[in-house]
Amino acid sequence: MRFLPVFLDLQTGPVLLVGGGELARAKLRVLSAAGACVRWFATDGNHDVSGLNAGEVARIQFAAGDPLAADLHGVIAILCAGAGDVGIAMSARARAAGLPVNVMDDLEHSSFIFPAIVDRGDVVVAIGTGGTSPVVARRVRESIETMLPGRIGDLATFIGRFRKSINGRIAQMPLRRRFWERVIDGPIGALILAGRNLEAEQALSDITDPTIFAGASASGEAEGRVTLVGAGPGDPDLLTVKALRALQDADVVFYDELVSPEILDRARRDASRIPVGRRIGKPGIGQDAINKLLIEAAKSGQRAVRLKGGDAFVFGRGGEEVEALRQAGIAYSVVPGITAALGAAAQFEVPLTFRNEALRITFLTAHKARDAEAVDWSALTDEKMTVVVYMGMTAATSVRAGLLAAGRSPQTPVGVFARATLPDAQAAVGILAELPDLVARIDRGPAILVIGDVVAHSAPWRDQNFAQTISKLLEAAE
Ligand code: SAH
Repeated sequence: MRFLPVFLDLQTGPVLLVGGGELARAKLRVLSAAGACVRWFATDGNHDVSGLNAGEVARIQFAAGDPLAADLHGVIAILCAGAGDVGIAMSARARAAGLPVNVMDDLEHSSFIFPAIVDRGDVVVAIGTGGTSPVVARRVRESIETMLPGRIGDLATFIGRFRKSINGRIAQMPLRRRFWERVIDGPIGALILAGRNLEAEQALSDITDPTIFAGASASGEAEGRVTLVGAGPGDPDLLTVKALRALQDADVVFYDELVSPEILDRARRDASRIPVGRRIGKPGIGQDAINKLLIEAAKSGQRAVRLKGGDAFVFGRGGEEVEALRQAGIAYSVVPGITAALGAAAQFEVPLTFRNEALRITFLTAHKARDAEAVDWSALTDEKMTVVVYMGMTAATSVRAGLLAAGRSPQTPVGVFARATLPDAQAAVGILAELPDLVARIDRGPAILVIGDVVAHSAPWRDQNFAQTISKLLEAAE
């Protein structure tokens, strides 16, 4: 992000507009609609204001003379549209004076740019593309326009009117936030969005105890809770709607090392983010310490999210956390996530089951060679079973030995799928006999091993076969 969206208070002074023609008039319309006072230097001498209403025209100061010599005292920003070389010179002047300047369609000479705008009164959405593509911005605006309720601005205005008086009656900050969340998400919000403002006002004044309405406990404290959230295999778009909501509601997020920064970015801006997983070269803080942190956070009235890669209940120790929370009498819930096996299966087109070829799936973990030796491989003899090994990179040799000893054919197709659903995802496919070599071809984890005939249906397998066929054909041709 090069340009940070900020909202400029147009009440504080005039905006200088330099330029002429339709381009300048378009900017004039945007500024006037926003209530700006505009001082306009029409470089072509034509102060045409068609399309503006009388009130808007009244706020325009029609300036004459050389804008490069104009008095900039009190000016809050400078815009150049259809101003040619004067715009470029004006930009240098603005910068020298420390004023924000925009030269239309000229990033090099602009210190700020105009976003595409969704305007719902007090609710304004600004969409930027860093000046790269107005067409993309327009598309985004269209989808936001269809998503936002028409009266969302009224809802903000309504809350703005009552915020001070209600907040004065709720001492705790988290409770205040919850009060307004309940207003927005509940019948009062619905009334406003339906245009029934008087009824909404009545309903709000009918609330006798705002702290109870906000869901405080009998002692008046905010009720804390813990939500175990599966973050999925890495791609933030694979978060569930519920996961996103939990992240948006969180006061604090305890996350594992597998959770990508892009996913953490989806949490509420002012939520605290606390890493509790292993860091590169550093051990984690341990399960007991994590349980304690979760319990303490909830007891202090916070809404804690425990964010884990994939799904919390698939090799995620979510079960232990739930047990600890239950014993401590903490309210909790669990939001499922897409586990690594499913993320990799979708991305690399590995159907984990297949008509008559694969009728069962086993997920197992073999973190160290020691774990692999502890696996009962004799339960995995079934050729029609797809085996997915989590945390299996370092134990690949033992996994191969175990499966071969169980009678699986060395020709069984296998795949190593790394960083699935992330931009740098990687796959290596081959046969069971060469499993450790395939792992060696992977740059870094996390990766799962998939063993079973279904791997022969995968996209990397098809690509590899294609490449082999081509090279055989080339050899034959030589
Ligand atoms: N709860 C997680 C698993 C945690 S164990 C889940 O449901 O996915 C950690 C192991 O998950 C890693 O060692 C690796 O085997 C696997 N894993 C996690 N993310 C992955 C990804 N994006 N691609 C491939 N494997 C992944």
